[in-house]
Order: sequence, then C-alpha cells, then structure tokens
Amino acid sequence: MAYPRITIDTEKLRNNVRAVMELVAPFHIRVAGVTKGFSANPQIAKAYVDGGVTYLADSRLQNLKKLKDLNIPKLMLRLPMISEAEELVKYADISLNSEVETVRALNDAAQKNNKVHDIILMVDLGDLREGYFHEEDLMDAVEDILDFKWIKIRGLGVNLTCYGGVIPNEKILQRLVDLATRVEERFNIKLEIISGGNSSTVPLLDGRIPEGINHLRMGEALLMGTEAAYGNRIPGTDDSVFTMEAQVIEVKEKPSVPTEEIGRDAFGKVPTFVDRGVRKRILCAIGKQDMDLDTLSPIDPGLIILGGSSDHLILDGSDAEKEYRVGDIISFKMHYVSMLRIMTSEYVEKVII
Ligand SMILES: *Cc1c(COP(=O)(O)O)cnc(C)c1O
Repeated sequence: MAYPRITIDTEKLRNNVRAVMELVAPFHIRVAGVTKGFSANPQIAKAYVDGGVTYLADSRLQNLKKLKDLNIPKLMLRLPMISEAEELVKYADISLNSEVETVRALNDAAQKNNKVHDIILMVDLGDLREGYFHEEDLMDAVEDILDFKWIKIRGLGVNLTCYGGVIPNEKILQRLVDLATRVEERFNIKLEIISGGNSSTVPLLDGRIPEGINHLRMGEALLMGTEAAYGNRIPGTDDSVFTMEAQVIEVKEKPSVPTEEIGRDAFGKVPTFVDRGVRKRILCAIGKQDMDLDTLSPIDPGLIILGGSSDHLILDGSDAEKEYRVGDIISFKMHYVSMLRIMTSEYVEKVII
C-alpha cells in the first residue's frame, strides 16, 4: 500500500448530503454541491448527485471539465476570466458574474456555441470580495446585459464569510431579496434564483432565513458536516468522510526546544517553542506541501501535532497509550483547508470507497 493516502467514504458523504437536503427542504432551497474541495473527482461528485443536489459547482474550469459526463447543470463559482469565456460556456451552464465586459465576452462565446448562457449577478453585501457594491451599478449592469441576446440573467447571488468573515444574518439576506424585487420591478423581468451564500448560511436554516432565498452553494456543509459561520456540527452528519493516513519514519526521544542559536525555519519564520522537557517525537512522511497543520487532527487523542516542514509532520507521542514504531500508520481527521490541499496533492494516494 502507498502512503500517505486519503480515503473518501462516499456512503458517508451521501448521508451528509441527505441530512443537509432535509434541512433545506422546508424552505424550498436548491443546493449547488461545491466540488472544489476534492478537485471535482467525478466519482465523489456522484455522491452529491445521488444525495440530491440540483447543481454541481466549482471555481475552476479544469474541474468543471472533469464533471462533464455527470448529467446535471454545472455552475461556475469564480468570476470567469475573459480568456476562458469560450471554454466556459461549453462546460458551465450558469456562471456567477459581476463585470459587464466579461458578460459581453460570454455572450459572444455563447453565440458561437449556439447555446444561451445563464448568469447570476453577484452583489457585495459587505464581505468585500466579489459583486456589485452599489445598487445603481447593479441596475446599470442589468440594463446593459438585457441587450445581450445569448445571455439570460437567472438571478442574484451573494457570497459571505470568505474574505471579510462577515456572517450572514436575516437583515443582510433580506437586502438581497429586496434588491432582487427592485430589479424585477424596474426591468419587468423574473429572477428565478436568489443565491444566499455558502455553508455559512446554514445556521439561518433554523427558520430565520428570509423567504425568497431559494439557492445555496455548499461545499463544507456536505463534506465536513459543519456550518461555516461558527463551525458547529449539522445534525445527522458525519465528520469522517475523509481520513488521511501517514506512515511513521522516525521515533526518537528529543528535547522540545533546540539548544543552539535559533534562526529561521524552512518557511522563513523564526519559530517559538514550549519547553516540555524530553519528549517522544514521531516523524511522519507528509508535509505542509500536502496539508495544513492547523486543520488536521490525529484520531489518537494521545498524539499532539508539534509542527512540520514541507515534507515532514512532527508529532509528540509521549502521552499516547500506543507505543508507536517506525512503519506504523497514523490516521487523521481533517477540516476544509487540509482536505483541499491533500486532495490536490499529487503525492497523496486517493482511495474512494
Ligand atoms: C467555494 C465557494 C462556495 C462554497 O463554500 P463552502 O463554505 O464550502 O460552502 C460557495 N460560493 C462560492 C462563490 C465559492 O467560491
């Protein structure tokens, strides 16, 4: 067997998707299953489809291409680059947009492709990443885009809790619904989709989510079973869809603080240490190139992550009941960022069960 490896349990994933579907059902919300966390592996994406999502969504065109054989609408999450317009309209049925210039390029590409391309216009409600910040700019854009024959405006969307860390609430999302109503009235059009954010909107599904929000784009909630505003577990979900295993390559008793003069570490930072005396230290063959130290946790509660470098993970095994030895395998749970990196790393074996 090859290590490090990550095992993806598609049955657990399907159950997570179903649990989230039950949560959104009373509000008639459709879910776009976000595939970027697992580089859009089609076998894993199939668990989303089987679980009941309405769209598959990704932020990268290369990933959407991998999903082309799954018969379900595809949504492009990142604002398209003008340079990818021609390919984008082939692999995405709908995209999130905030620039008329880009939509013009999509319109030209859609005409060449002889298929109308749908868009959701993004509104910035304070997170300060993508979207129209001023209402008048949004209105001007709608007016311009309505002239494009190969583009259909399907709705409005917002993204929160990504750059600015702004947590969605009733007031913020009501602004999105109201804005959509004003667009509909002013231009006499119907906006079918009001996309109220990502996994950080999940806490509002306790009944606070404003009527009119009928679409969410979710990765973390499905993959990890956590909402992304406070990190709480969603009832009925499992946090172990993904399990990473790494192999031990050294076990030695060492002091916990270097005894010589300290300069920079492998990442250019001056490290600091807590002196716990002489400890049993375990090296594993996986590193920061493949994962993120802060979002990884050993399943054995007796192990502590001390740190790592590009290709090494260093654990403190002094308090573990098990006597770890060279060649042993250590299992880890992980959160979103580690999953993203591990799934992207070509050095980690992927096992889908
Ligand atoms: C990644 C992404 C999502 C999914 O975010 P989660 O927190 O994983 O649910 C939703 N919308 C956009 C625009 C994204 O880029």
